[in-house]
Amino acid sequence: MDRYQKFATSTLGRRVVPRLGLPTPHQLRRYAPGTPALDGPVLLGGGERLTRTAAGVCEAIGADVHAAPVEGQRYAAVVFDATGITDSTKLRALHDFFHPVIRSVGASGRVVVLGSPPAEQTDARTRVAQRALEGFTRSVGKELKRGATSQLVLVGEGAEGEVESTLRFLLSARSAYVSGQVVRIGPAPVSEPADWEHPLAGKVALVTGASRGIGAATAEVLGRDGAHVVCLDVPARGGELSEVANRVGGSSFQLDVTAADAPKKLVDHLLQRHGGVDVVVHNAGITRDKTLGRMDAALWDAVVAVNLSSQERINDELFGRDALRPGGRIVGVSSISGIAGNAGQTNYATTKAGVIGMVDALAGELASRGGTINAVAPGFIETRMTAAVPLLVREAGRRMNSTSQGGLPVDVAETVAWFANPASAGVNGNVVRVCGQSLLGA
Ligand code: NAP
Repeated sequence: MDRYQKFATSTLGRRVVPRLGLPTPHQLRRYAPGTPALDGPVLLGGGERLTRTAAGVCEAIGADVHAAPVEGQRYAAVVFDATGITDSTKLRALHDFFHPVIRSVGASGRVVVLGSPPAEQTDARTRVAQRALEGFTRSVGKELKRGATSQLVLVGEGAEGEVESTLRFLLSARSAYVSGQVVRIGPAPVSEPADWEHPLAGKVALVTGASRGIGAATAEVLGRDGAHVVCLDVPARGGELSEVANRVGGSSFQLDVTAADAPKKLVDHLLQRHGGVDVVVHNAGITRDKTLGRMDAALWDAVVAVNLSSQERINDELFGRDALRPGGRIVGVSSISGIAGNAGQTNYATTKAGVIGMVDALAGELASRGGTINAVAPGFIETRMTAAVPLLVREAGRRMNSTSQGGLPVDVAETVAWFANPASAGVNGNVVRVCGQSLLGA
């Protein structure tokens, strides 16, 4: 809990804060191994296409499913299959279903709307109606209080069986800081993990920039999920890097990813030590902030080299030497700066938008290898990077989202782990923001 959050939830703060019209950041429920996925029943309604699948997932995670609201019941999740909405006049079904129950969504509760990808619809009216779901779910996310979230999951034709890993993630406390997102799932060769608690057992994952912050948290979560994690960082961070690698039962590899021979050295290491790699997380990133008129070319070059060009060069080497195993995953780390733009960050935002371009450009290539590429776009995450931001800007960044608080590195890490899960093969070409539904950007 940050200082303001502690005050707002204290006895005095609970009296003062609402009177001043200030937000009360609710303590978000986060995943801990062994805890139930949901802390209450799920209300499930709507059309035919995905309801049965959703009910199956809820049962698999041990949740009680209600087909109709029960008076006075608090719901841990409310799921609605909106795929049957084929005309704007039928959008009223959203109001009919949610109006009576939306105030019964519990703390850190979940709203998930299931739809069909608008672009796949040949009928114009269906396309319009399905696109409309986005405005609905995003607004619901902004209305929900006490850490509850709202998402739209668009399930392509033939991908009905591929939604389990996504529903498990979005319904659970693993998605604590993800809200207002649209996730697309397409048909793909999904392999269900033998053990959902250790879906990455037997896999090798590479995480760059792993000595601290989001990278260290990602190494931990991928290790927890069963992967052997190769933790990479610059030689100057060797001490912290070894500590992280030891903690997660992985190995460390010191390398500056911008060095001319870095891709070769890295891929040599992955092939010789591990016979290849299954999950690559391009997390290493730097900021060198200045407004454009004051930014010299060295600051521009440094940021582009670390945040974008090094990743392209590593990908080329991985593909060229077939080091990414079939079904392999690449995860980019973008930023809401790359979506919304940010004063003082023309260099950084350029690279982070470039990461989104990389996802678009390589999704087809990865799909042809049975793999995926996706990106997380973090908002304000409590790390050393954001601790260096001036106080007022930092406070604004923390509060200007639906949860009124900053996220934790683990929130980004859990999202990466969902992409990496073998059961997420249908989740390809997505950019998912981990930003508590920041007011910045779409
Ligand atoms: P961080 O604490 O600064 O950690 C990044 C790590 O990457 C550092 O250990 C850094 O080492 C390392 N690194 C930098 N250049 C490298 C190179 N050439 N080769 C290998 N490693 C290198 O950052 P973070 O806050 O955890 O952020 C991680 C990622 O998330 C970054 O891509 C960042 O842009 C992105 N992100 C963060 C936030 C946030 O709120 N924190 C928001 C949006 C996006 P040095 O100490 O030498 O720099």
